[in-house]
Amino acid sequence: MTRRKIVAGNWKMNGSVESVVELVKGLNACDTLDVVVAPSFVYLPLVAQQLVDSSIKLAAQNASEYNSGPYTGEVSLSMLQDFSVSHVILGHSERRALFAETDTQVAKKVAATLAAGLTPILCVGETLEQREVGTTLAVCNAQVDAVLNEIGVELFEQVVVAYEPVWAIGTGKSATSEQAQEVHKGIRDNIATQSAEIAEKIAILYGGSVKASNSAELFAQPDIDGALVGGASLDAKEFNSIIESAK
Ligand code: PGA
Repeated sequence: MTRRKIVAGNWKMNGSVESVVELVKGLNACDTLDVVVAPSFVYLPLVAQQLVDSSIKLAAQNASEYNSGPYTGEVSLSMLQDFSVSHVILGHSERRALFAETDTQVAKKVAATLAAGLTPILCVGETLEQREVGTTLAVCNAQVDAVLNEIGVELFEQVVVAYEPVWAIGTGKSATSEQAQEVHKGIRDNIATQSAEIAEKIAILYGGSVKASNSAELFAQPDIDGALVGGASLDAKEFNSIIESAK
């Protein structure tokens, strides 16, 4: 089957009012695939306004699992909906490693995101150490299983998975297309043990040092359905080239 591709830009904690406005002005939308950008929370209203007449979709980089209340520093899904956010990046390795997010918390956030009618982009991936001892697939599938157990396979159809090897993030050292394909297939096969139909439908993005020079090769793999792009998404020209290579 042909799955619709997604190219998402994770801007992380970067930008200023000026640079964000410039970046959005430079982005090309695309009818044949989903282009998504994920600015920092504080720039969401600004970018939402800029994208009013565009097909480019807006993502947040995190969200609270709670609806409202005494959670200082957190942002709820309904607040994100107020600013036309359609996607939420969850379980990014930086959140898992630096902010101690657990599989259980990530699973709860995915459930809350789906309940709010938004699309979660669930990030999974192994560290270099885990790759070296041969546990890559076990680690990724355990992270996926935590969510599957929380929400069930039927709802999982609405989840976008992003395979992001931790050693490839921000290092300039992307996984090879063969390495990525192997893990993407392993993730899809694991979901297929619960539902072959849903496994075929879900989009699995690759993330980790994606750039215009390696994106076409990655996108040519049968189980790679797009990319979650960090550093290279901060440069409109580079990001447009990645979008172009996904067409
Ligand atoms: P990178 O980041 O493209 O800069 O490696 C990817 C990500 O963290 O989503």
